[in-house]
Amino acid sequence: MKFKLLVAAAFIVTLATGEICAQQSDSMIKTRKDAELLVPRPFRESVPSMIKSDKDVLDSIETSSPGVKILLFADNTWKYWKDPAVILKNDVFSDNWNTETAVPFLVEQKDLPEKISLWIVDTLSDYRCPNPVKVYSPFGYRHRRRHQGVDLPLKTGDPVYAAFSGKVRLSKYYSGYGNLVIIRHENGLETFYAHLSKREVESGEWVEAGQEIGLGGSTGRSSGAHLHFETRYMGYAFDPEWLIDFETGTLRHRLFTLKRQYLDANSRYVPESDDEEIDIHDGDQKDYATQDSIAAAKKAAEEKAAAERAAAQYHKVRSGDTLSGIAQRYGTTVSKIIKLNPGLTTRTTLRIGRSIRVK
Ligand SMILES: [Zn+2]
Repeated sequence: MKFKLLVAAAFIVTLATGEICAQQSDSMIKTRKDAELLVPRPFRESVPSMIKSDKDVLDSIETSSPGVKILLFADNTWKYWKDPAVILKNDVFSDNWNTETAVPFLVEQKDLPEKISLWIVDTLSDYRCPNPVKVYSPFGYRHRRRHQGVDLPLKTGDPVYAAFSGKVRLSKYYSGYGNLVIIRHENGLETFYAHLSKREVESGEWVEAGQEIGLGGSTGRSSGAHLHFETRYMGYAFDPEWLIDFETGTLRHRLFTLKRQYLDANSRYVPESDDEEIDIHDGDQKDYATQDSIAAAKKAAEEKAAAERAAAQYHKVRSGDTLSGIAQRYGTTVSKIIKLNPGLTTRTTLRIGRSIRVK
């Protein structure tokens, strides 16, 4: 009896942690539709910026998932925690890893999937707004320059936080960016924190979401203290406002569908709703249908013209020929011949040797 209970308990623990791991392993590429089949809607709800509190960990409990523990805090709260040593085994932390170059990827934008669904936050990971404040300069073209991130005003010396957990890929003074920290996250995203007055982390270091990584400043090409914040996927920047509402500090989605079209300086964040999504999809379908019918009509016209060219027949004018005589001979009419030969009229003198199209 006791044994049976133990087995049942173990089964329940496996179920609970198994679910966590399923979410984690599905963090890479999947369409939103596929992802929604696997997860309930709450995972698309927004997430408030965490408030860092230095809670004491009282104890930790192992789960059946390798590296996943339950941490128990002194204030009677608990959370799941995944050992970075396990997370770091993911290829994402070794492929295209470069501690010197801001963009070490070689993939062409056109070779990326049209839609990439990424887990931004799940049961094992947190989020903290790096600098919650109204965006001063948005992403996109600005004064004929490409702006690859958002500018978030702060005072020199204000703390800057890692938005998500990850491994610091680059931490150095970088032309233009000034003091720059780049963090790579498990889902493949990278976040850039630029113009810092001080960098507090080094490349190779693991940082937790919400950890202070440096102090705000105005180093590099900057005319006043602000945090220049970028979000990139495979080296291509997209508007961070797709992810974060900086004014409230809220993360817009737990599960984010990154569209390839966002990876462009012309693609600024526009508030979206499910209805808009559907409208856009319907509109696209109509556009494609129209394009298809235009293409079909064009093809048909081309085929008809080609068939006519192939069927064309000519007559070389001989002495004594008249248009009516030629028409009779080829079983057609004078008006049809005139239509086929621009410039030809019933009064045209037919010169001997001239080629006239008759069919
Ligand atoms: Zn900027």
